[in-house]
Amino acid sequence: MSYCSNCGAKLPKDAFYCPKCGVKTVLGAEKTAITLEDLRETFNRIEKEFEKAFALATKEMHAAFKKAMENIQQEPPKETVTCSNCGEKNLKDAIFCYNCGTKIEPKTEEKV
Ligand SMILES: [Zn+2]
Ligand SMILES: [Zn+2]
Repeated sequence: MSYCSNCGAKLPKDAFYCPKCGVKTVLGAEKTAITLEDLRETFNRIEKEFEKAFALATKEMHAAFKKAMENIQQEPPKETVTCSNCGEKNLKDAIFCYNCGTKIEPKTEEKV
């Protein structure tokens, strides 16, 4: 059993405020402090998770971009033509893909 630090009234169990004078009890002060602390921790955690996720996404994007650049650099542009269906490299004058038989359309984006 605890007593109000202000008026000395007996406090009910789990009372956060004195029922007689309205002063916040020790328990009430603790409860408020914990709640604020929890809230702050939750915000910090969310912020960190977001930063982590964002950093990861940026990293993955960089990796994908680097890989794409490497693929572009590795691919000899004039010697072969890539099948749009299966991705197999065919000779540049091939009309049909030797691998899957799909008609190879000339790339329209390779304008000089
Ligand atoms: Zn009181
Ligand atoms: Zn193909």
